Amino acid sequence: MSYKVLIANRGEIALRAIRACKELGIKTVSVYSEADKDLKHLRFSDETVCIGPASPTQSYLNIPAILSAAELTSANAIYPGYGFLAEDHNFAEMCEKSGFKFIGPASETIQKMGDKITAKTLAEKSGIQIVPGYKDEIPSDNNEFKKIARDIGYPIMIKATAGGGGRGMRVVEKEEDLISHAEITMQEAKNGFGNETIYLEKFIGNPRHIEVQIVGDGKGKAIHLGTRDCSMQRRHQKIIEEAPALNINQEALNKTLIACVDLCKEINYEGVGTIEFLYEDNQFYFIEMNTRIQVEHPVTEMITGFDLVKAQLRIALGMPIELNQDDINFNGHSLECRINAEDPDNFQPSPGTITKMHTPGGFGIRYDSHIYGGYKVPPNYDSLLAKIITQANSRSSAIKRMLSALDEFFIEGIKTNHPLHQRILHDDTFKENKHTINYLENEFLKK
Ligand code: ADP
Repeated sequence: MSYKVLIANRGEIALRAIRACKELGIKTVSVYSEADKDLKHLRFSDETVCIGPASPTQSYLNIPAILSAAELTSANAIYPGYGFLAEDHNFAEMCEKSGFKFIGPASETIQKMGDKITAKTLAEKSGIQIVPGYKDEIPSDNNEFKKIARDIGYPIMIKATAGGGGRGMRVVEKEEDLISHAEITMQEAKNGFGNETIYLEKFIGNPRHIEVQIVGDGKGKAIHLGTRDCSMQRRHQKIIEEAPALNINQEALNKTLIACVDLCKEINYEGVGTIEFLYEDNQFYFIEMNTRIQVEHPVTEMITGFDLVKAQLRIALGMPIELNQDDINFNGHSLECRINAEDPDNFQPSPGTITKMHTPGGFGIRYDSHIYGGYKVPPNYDSLLAKIITQANSRSSAIKRMLSALDEFFIEGIKTNHPLHQRILHDDTFKENKHTINYLENEFLKK
């Protein structure tokens, strides 16, 4: 059977998907907005369709326009990438109902895992440790509510079950603020997500962000591809990621990896996914599951040799795939630096035309990017320009290789966070792998 996949995304992930499709002999259709007619991947796609104006709501989030493009080009399947509609269960369901295979898990799975209380409940059932807290209905009696919070212990976090993208969360330091903060969070959740349900979690003070990559065939078979450490972040946005996560308690790790695979088997998970944890004092605490490919997937690919995007396509299209845990071997260490179009000092977006640039290369260096000299970075989308990825025998060698790659890399015409990466990679706390999720904002940027 011949396959044709519509790529419902833009930028580097659209290019990544086309490369994987080409290797598998799959034809591609790329959709683009009016602001994106010069995107690199459009030149490599078999067909292209303009789906609307620059504004994401009128293009990359415009479900009828995307489904019409799929219909028009007789695509069989839709690849969502990350961001945009990748975790929108309504979109997945509409694809299914319109006869297009959504490349990802079933819409019900996306829905279940997108609801944080349901996700926590399912995770706990499979033996995954969750953040201590309270996920039943909040009592209407304020004194009862205060007692629940006191039992968890301050500071606590109020979270909206429908929250996402760092929104719908609030830290409460002391009892006086509990009721008012809960009311505000509920109101924001109602307005932002159409669901005012909230729950409580203990606030984990100074953790690392550790995540587990999993792959499932949708028929009850699942494996893990180890861990990633994404603790170097600013405002919950990851900046540097690495695999594997080092200095982790072996017993807690083994237990967590088994429980993650069990969860995926339990829910017949189809495709690739990531289970995210906060890690503190040798304990893993589940925070959420992302039911899609992640930006940082290359670091896992580099140490395992396992192509996660090809796996997504194979599983969705029913092509043969071997998913045996014993076949997965981990080699050395990999790092990824996200190069963003932003001012390295004040983090303001910096769209515009790239007048000149040079990309890095060499042994153990991978460069995933859609940009080129003369390309105009539009102001309408995420600021990610390029991912520089290195792999080497050890973490310290991967860091040195990254510094060499960053030396070769330059972009002129717009500002990027390139100098910030160079500073971080020379930082002792980073080199010693002692940073937590708070380090960049609370210490490093204040130096
Ligand atoms: P979202 O779906 O909005 O990304 P997450 O549940 O993944 O929300 O949380 C986003 C970030 O918020 C985490 O990476 C972490 O930095 C912080 N966070 C979430 N829950 C807690 C908690 N209980 N204690 C401390 N920080 C937390």
